[in-house]
Amino acid sequence: MAQVHERLTVASSCSAYTHMTIHAPKKILIVEDEADIAHLVKLYLEKDGFRTTIAATGSQGLTMIKTNRPDMVILDLMLPEMDGLEICKKIRMAPDTALLPVLMLTAKAEESDTIIGLELGADDYVTKPFSPKVLVTRVKALFRRLERTHDPKQTSYAYGSLMVDLSRHEVMVDGKEICLTAKEFGLLEQLLHHPGRVLTRDVLLNAVWGYDYYGTTRTVDVHIRRLKLKIPLLDEAIISVKSLGYKLSDQVPVK
Ligand code: CA
Repeated sequence: MAQVHERLTVASSCSAYTHMTIHAPKKILIVEDEADIAHLVKLYLEKDGFRTTIAATGSQGLTMIKTNRPDMVILDLMLPEMDGLEICKKIRMAPDTALLPVLMLTAKAEESDTIIGLELGADDYVTKPFSPKVLVTRVKALFRRLERTHDPKQTSYAYGSLMVDLSRHEVMVDGKEICLTAKEFGLLEQLLHHPGRVLTRDVLLNAVWGYDYYGTTRTVDVHIRRLKLKIPLLDEAIISVKSLGYKLSDQVPVK
């Protein structure tokens, strides 16, 4: 009997481990100065299997991003000292957090700020007052959306009438081949790889030109402009994000 019991224990701990490796819980940092809201959000996220930490100020939040390496940040817009927009900008400017998903919490009266929030690189926003259940749904939807667009093995892209074959370095629009320089091609590749996400000039410069390149971020602007001239569809699709960089609209513009 003792043997059977032992085997059962081993079997169950094994399956628990397997379960953990497949579904490693995602870590979410909640940056919110209102303790009641922060704890309610924490409660609902943890009920759904997420691991959470809370930061009550912006500077604490930025420190915890570095130490805790969260998979997503839920960021309140109205914070003392440093507001949510400032924090979001700092997250996007630092190369190691440039692509960290950010979901912003805003109040209805701040609708113009909401737009600025998205312009400064928040990936989504939820308006206060909100139902915690709705917030959890939006968190999950954002994770799903980002996972879908993050397949590093993808070698070809279709974006409206634009087809890009990465392995053959081939760009076609309406079946007609477009000649791009290596840098233009590199920029296009980065944008197609992260649709709907703000990529700062520094991130693009490092990805396409490399860390040892001594040029300025103006170089990125020049090449984006050339890319838009060669592929008119991109003129509308590549959105310039004030003071930060560029993003490829995840909705293909209708011509
Ligand atoms: Ca607040």
